[in-house]
Order: sequence, then structure tokens, then C-alpha cells
Amino acid sequence: MPPVSPDVASIRSRLLAWYDAHARALAWRAPPGEAGGIDPYRVWLSEVMLQQTTTAHATPYFLNFAARWPTVRDLAAAPDAEVMAAWAGLGYYARARNLLACARAVAGDHGGVFPDTEARLLALPGVGAYTAAAVAAIAFDRPANVVDGNVERVMARLFAVETPVPAARPELRRLAARFVTDHRPGDWAQALMDLGATVCRSRSPLCGQCPLAADCAGFASGAPERFPLKAKKADKPRRHGVAWVIWTRGDGWRWSGGRTRACWAACWACRPATGRPSPRLARRRSPAIGATPGRWSTSSPTSP
Ligand code: SF4
Repeated sequence: MPPVSPDVASIRSRLLAWYDAHARALAWRAPPGEAGGIDPYRVWLSEVMLQQTTTAHATPYFLNFAARWPTVRDLAAAPDAEVMAAWAGLGYYARARNLLACARAVAGDHGGVFPDTEARLLALPGVGAYTAAAVAAIAFDRPANVVDGNVERVMARLFAVETPVPAARPELRRLAARFVTDHRPGDWAQALMDLGATVCRSRSPLCGQCPLAADCAGFASGAPERFPLKAKKADKPRRHGVAWVIWTRGDGWRWSGGRTRACWAACWACRPATGRPSPRLARRRSPAIGATPGRWSTSSPTSP
């Protein structure tokens, strides 16, 4: 079923009014009405940290980084080891490496000044479509279509999108793009994020407090939490392999890998190590020097 035509102006007006009254106070935020007046370094830093991380968990890290390295030049000049240590606990360490690469590109190639358009932000190392749009909208008040998981959920419910994710993602982006205009684009982006985070929650949406309830097809259906629909997960492929345990006299064990490199690369058992072998693998061994074969099969490449 094609989505109904929304009253874009009415929905925008009500959500922005709600945001003016209910915006979350976050360490990296400008108050409603002041988007575009905030340091793009802080917006970028927060958006990188918030990927795969909750706001509550990311906040102390953000405050620590902002205090230790208050400008992008400061961060660019920081030793890698110090930044990685400060990142410890946030996970997904590739983000920290990308953070440094981007900071050094901004400091080295842009005079320490973040580019102010989505396209030029996207050209920075480690900056993807979402981050570029978020920084352009929030830091520079540019009309960018900022679509994170919260926004996808709001769109899926507002229009009762029956296509499951991830196939629905292009459609959800198109729906979100209908609402992007030149009027308060940074506030609009943050208003949608906040609605998704605090009212249109993944479980138990608070439709009674929602400024969009009158237009929401998901709410009208009586089961808004059904959206976004999720595609049935395919069964994980079963993998098979052979592990060899090699041992030497005296100083313990060495482990060797097998043929399926993608799997072995993530297996703790296949890295060179000392210590005793897994009982599952060490079924037989010689008294002195030898090798023990063990077979495994798993539905997960990280758990032999
Ligand atoms: S009415 Fe309910 S389901 Fe619809 S957008 Fe608001 S909170 Fe989400």
C-alpha cells in the first residue's frame, strides 16, 4: 500500500513545537532554535561516539574527550595510544582509528575547520552518509536528511510501512526526506531523533504523548509496535573444519589453524598460544611430541 500523503507542514510544525518544549539536554547539543551555532567538532565527536552506543554510555566519554582535546587540532595532535586508551570501553575500535584519521585530515587539509556541506564532510576519512548529514544539519543548519534507527522507526510507524527492514530502508529514507526543508533543519533532525528516543520507543511507544498521533497510520492500526517489520533472519550457515593441536616437550602447547581462514581468523583456539588445549580438541595425544586432530562444527564463526 503506498503511503498516504502527509500534511508535511502540519507535522513539521507540531513536532518542532514539541521539540521546543521537550528537547533532550545533551552535552553536545545547542538548545532549540540555536542549531548551527554549535561547534562542529563537538557534533562530529558525539555522532561518532553514538554509533552503536547509547547516549548514557557515550556521555562521559564525550565529556572526557572534549576536556582533554577541546579542539579538533588538539585531538589531531594527540598520540594514538592516548586516544585509544581514552576510547577503551566504547567498543568498535575502528571508530577510534577513523576518528583520529578524520581529525588529522581536518587539521592538516582544512586548516582545523570542518567543511560545512554534507558532500565535503562525506569526503573526510571515516565519515559516512549518516555522520555527514548529522553534522551538516546540526552544526551548520543545512537541510540534510538525517536518518538513524530512531528516525527509521518513526517513519515506519507514521506510514505503517509493510516492507520489512532492511529492504524498507530506501523507502524509509525517501519518506524522511519529504520533511526536510530549509526551515530549522538542524532542529528538525534533532526533533525526530528525540521523538524516536523518548516517545516513539522501540518497545511500548508513548502514543498518548506523541504530537504526531493524529497522523500516524501505525497508531491508527492499533499495533504501532509492530513497525518496523523485521525480515525473518536466515539460519546461520553451519561451518565445519579441522583443528590441529601441536605440542612440544616442556613448554606447553601451540595451536595451528585450518583451511577456512575467515573462520580461523576469529577463533581464539587457532592463535598461537600456550596453555592446555580444549578438551573437545585434545582427544588423543602422544606422550612427548605430536599432533592432535579435532573436528568441530558450528553455526558461529567465533565459537569453535
Ligand atoms: S503515534 Fe505512536 S507510533 Fe506513531 S509516531 Fe507517535 S509514538 Fe510513534
